[in-house]
Amino acid sequence: MNHLRPLLGWSLSLLLLAPALDASPAAQLLRVYYNSKADVRALANSGADIVRHGDKWLEVVVPSDDEVSTQAAAEIQRVLARFDKREVLVKDLDTLLDPFRAAPDLGVYHTVKEAHDELAEYAAKYPEICRTESIGKTFEGRDIEALIVGPQGAKAAGKPRFLFCGAHHSREWISIEVPLALAKKLVTGYATDPAVKALVDSRVTWIVPILNPDGVTHSQTQYKMWRKNRRKHANNSFGVDPNRNYGYKWGGAGASTWPDSDTYRGASGFSEAETSAIRDLARREKFAADISFHSYSELVMWPWSYSEEHIAAPREAIFKKYAQAMAELNGYTAEKSSDLYPSSGDYDDFMYGETGALSFTIELGQTFVPSESEVPEITEKNVAACMFMLKNCEDPFPRMAHNPPAASEPSGFPVEVSLNRELWPDENVSSVSAVYTTTDGAIQSTDLPAVAGQTTIFSGNLPAAARTYHFEYTSAKGETVRWPPYRDFEAPPASGKGR
Ligand SMILES: [Zn+2]
Repeated sequence: MNHLRPLLGWSLSLLLLAPALDASPAAQLLRVYYNSKADVRALANSGADIVRHGDKWLEVVVPSDDEVSTQAAAEIQRVLARFDKREVLVKDLDTLLDPFRAAPDLGVYHTVKEAHDELAEYAAKYPEICRTESIGKTFEGRDIEALIVGPQGAKAAGKPRFLFCGAHHSREWISIEVPLALAKKLVTGYATDPAVKALVDSRVTWIVPILNPDGVTHSQTQYKMWRKNRRKHANNSFGVDPNRNYGYKWGGAGASTWPDSDTYRGASGFSEAETSAIRDLARREKFAADISFHSYSELVMWPWSYSEEHIAAPREAIFKKYAQAMAELNGYTAEKSSDLYPSSGDYDDFMYGETGALSFTIELGQTFVPSESEVPEITEKNVAACMFMLKNCEDPFPRMAHNPPAASEPSGFPVEVSLNRELWPDENVSSVSAVYTTTDGAIQSTDLPAVAGQTTIFSGNLPAAARTYHFEYTSAKGETVRWPPYRDFEAPPASGKGR
């Protein structure tokens, strides 16, 4: 029996240590009133999560007043002293999640398992139009599951790609529900709704409802208003903010260098499983457009986030146009991401800055976890925004335009293409290739030189045997630019003359 004593001693001390190892500070929601943007920036740079703003006020998540044990909390308290007027809106934010945790299976909200089971069910039931894939493994070994909806196998080649992503941030449970509702609409509407069928047949839609399953699991089971992932740091604190960890313009303003902080940027860009999974997927798939869902504050936002600088004209106007169109559908406000304050290392900046996708962040609802009765309306109107994107953003930044030839002659038919100099001012192109398939299935190409005296118009002749065609050139960066990016044109019918 003697040998039991030391064992008992060990397990007791382990139990006592366990809470200290994961001392996630209790969080409160404050409303603070500011006089200058410098105050807003200082607060963002201190590591506080600014969740909503109005005229001269901010709602911000900060550690409770009695939580000054960490450097991150102390830094926030120091900056908060700049704000004369402060109100406590919710003293212990964790209590907001309690009613849902008390309900069986979180009520209307999906647990991680329920969400992933639902994707697997769709894949089993509708294998001709969807499948699941793990795009990465988290720090705690969970799969980051995706549902891919659209033509499967070889039939997916050449189709435009879209990405809809939820739960970068653990406590933003509603951000899981919109991608799941979109998945449901696409797979269950396929048989009955011709508009849905047309989109499913012509696009490849990637849906990642829970990018951060470790953090979401923690938030749903461990009674913490948790935001980040669950990487364990050397100082025994936890978590990197995935939406400050993308490697495009990583390490600037609006992200914390303290591991304890809610907006900790991580040791380096793409140090985390969640962000590197998106990086690898985006580089491979080359998405035309995408949305990342968060909560809350009812905004549709476009890049840049890291800087108040504008995207080069006229692409900024294109972002604004689509953001406003989606804001019409969900009733939110469209604004540039850095309108209030810059934050670096975020998803949209990477998606647009590196891969050129038309990339948006949508902040859902008016609280982190809206009441059960609000969820159907939030999902419905935001699925409408997703459907708008799928329908309209196939080729959001066209590189070229072309005049379709009316009819082919026995000698072939003329094609002419013009470069979009306004959108792509840096492209220096001396010739464009027309790539075509012939009746026997062979792929051939012919060079289209610039029209005399022109630098943006290219023309040439395709043989009458050409069936489909598209255009290509090599950019200054050495990449092959294909247009249209996802499909071929049909060759015109023979005119009948001379037959
Ligand atoms: Zn968020």
